[in-house]
Amino acid sequence: MSIHLLPPDVADKIAAGEVVERPASVVKESVENSLDAGATDIRVEIRDGGRQLVRVIDNGSGIPAAEAPLAFQRHATSKLQSADDLQHIATLGFRGEALAAIAAVSKTTLVTRTAAEPTGIELRLEGSEVVGRRAIGAPAGTSLSIEQVFWNVPARLKFLRSDATEAGHISRIVTRYALAYPDVRFSYVVEGRLAFQSAGNGDQAQVLLKMHGPDIAQQMLAIEPATDPVTPGVIVGGFASIPALHRANRSAIELYVNRRYIQDRNLTFAVIQAYHTLLPGDRFPIALVFVDIDPELVDVNVHPTKAEVRFRDASLVFRAVQRAVHRTLVDSAPLAALQPAARPGWETRRQTILQAGQGGEAPGQIAMDLYRQGLEQEDRELMAAGASGVEPPTSPTAPRSDGDTLPPLRPVGQIAATYLVAEGPGGLFLVDQHAAHERILYEAIVDAGHHPIPRQQLLQPLTIELGTHLAGLIAEHLPVLQQSGFDIEPFGAGSFLLRAVPAFLGRQDPERLLTDVAEGFAGQDNVVGGGQEDALVKIICKRLAIKAGQVLSLAEQREMLQQLEHCHNPRTCPHGRPTVLHLSAAQLERQFGRI
Ligand code: ADP
Ligand code: MG
Repeated sequence: MSIHLLPPDVADKIAAGEVVERPASVVKESVENSLDAGATDIRVEIRDGGRQLVRVIDNGSGIPAAEAPLAFQRHATSKLQSADDLQHIATLGFRGEALAAIAAVSKTTLVTRTAAEPTGIELRLEGSEVVGRRAIGAPAGTSLSIEQVFWNVPARLKFLRSDATEAGHISRIVTRYALAYPDVRFSYVVEGRLAFQSAGNGDQAQVLLKMHGPDIAQQMLAIEPATDPVTPGVIVGGFASIPALHRANRSAIELYVNRRYIQDRNLTFAVIQAYHTLLPGDRFPIALVFVDIDPELVDVNVHPTKAEVRFRDASLVFRAVQRAVHRTLVDSAPLAALQPAARPGWETRRQTILQAGQGGEAPGQIAMDLYRQGLEQEDRELMAAGASGVEPPTSPTAPRSDGDTLPPLRPVGQIAATYLVAEGPGGLFLVDQHAAHERILYEAIVDAGHHPIPRQQLLQPLTIELGTHLAGLIAEHLPVLQQSGFDIEPFGAGSFLLRAVPAFLGRQDPERLLTDVAEGFAGQDNVVGGGQEDALVKIICKRLAIKAGQVLSLAEQREMLQQLEHCHNPRTCPHGRPTVLHLSAAQLERQFGRI
């Protein structure tokens, strides 16, 4: 076959294939056009999963009658003048391809009128060809009806899924734009029935509620839109699920850049990273993350569907997203009832609480009074302990940090030798002693590079015999055991010499603990690469942490609570389970019918 130029209709169909993949693509491009036209009201109607009909009606600027036919030409756009403009695109469209592509593969009717013109125009096209054109009375704005998409591309038609699946794709597009543009009222009509409508009053949380329903919406934390001084020029906002809510895959992580929904593996990973140790390893959060950035710093002209972008400084945006999500979690999850507005240090807050108690105006007055009495009682105990020569409990292994994300807690007692009952300014707290201790150990070991774990020398080195298998595992992981506070060295033929153990082990049997840890290592196959050390540390924590069923003295309980208060992420164990449950003073009052 000789080389020849393709006839225009064939070239059009090929080009259209890049933009229009399925009915949902038609909806996406049309909605983007409506938004670019400044619409505040957008109605999307579909029939048969969009196969029979997609209609998008808006109250935007409309197209001047004389220009309407041009809009369907390839590379016809009102949004771009020169190649320079490509460097700072502020509209959703700019390629001038969508209308041409849609018309090439469907039967299209456009009705449009600008506010300045007395009458509008109706234009009908079939496979790129104009088959009808007339003046028509119409409200200002644009209505685009796309019938029988792919009627002339049977190959594509075959690949469409069931109506329900196609409708699902479309509804995701509509709700995404409704969320990104809460100031625009979206209506979505399926088979003549209103399936979704947003208020268009600017309230994003309200759209989220409609999208996901109250159960999920309640468990989403707002990422307050803000610029982090560490990552200037990037504003990150949106919503992120509390750690207790998670999914089996990452598809519920949605990213928007300058209100455009995009896919970006890197930023998806930034979100996952922000949940590090807060979620079980194979679980993923729900997140809707909005990144706003100077259009000059992002290239949207990467892909015909504009679903991917390239950042001038990808690592800056990565850090901004990771930090914003993480900050939101640390500030509020999962104890959303605690409002950690400002975060002064422990002692300052304690003082503030005491003063608030005296002021008489504080919320939850009863709880506050009780709390103050509790602290005073505790002070008396501590003083008595000091007087009798017994050291007040200290927390040598807790990393001193600014991450004081639990309020000061006063131990009240233990339930079933498993849960600590504690009182704080916000009411009653139940602490899972094993999970809490795992978290404490995890942070202490991870931090051991800066603050070595205190060791307790054994009076005599202990020889420990392990089978060859377990001995091999211990030998292989000596460095991480050293970091965890064990002083241990091989002593030939499957045995080891143990000279010191982590001080926090207290009265536990070191030989049994070490065997436990080795068994933990044995159960952990195929941990490779960067995650390995972390996985090993988690195993060590799990095995060394105080178990359920162990009775703790009041002093031990107090010490554990204090150590937990000092953790960066006190509210979940390293495997992502909660360490603390909270019953607020208000909840108690309600339950007891006091209010
Ligand atoms: P692009 O959006 O990339 O400019 P399109 O092919 O999607 O290209 O649209 C071509 C042009 O048609 C747009 O630039 C715009 O001027 C006009 N247009 C399309 N849809 C609408 C609409 N709903 N309201 C007003 N103008 C529109
Ligand atoms: Mg467009």
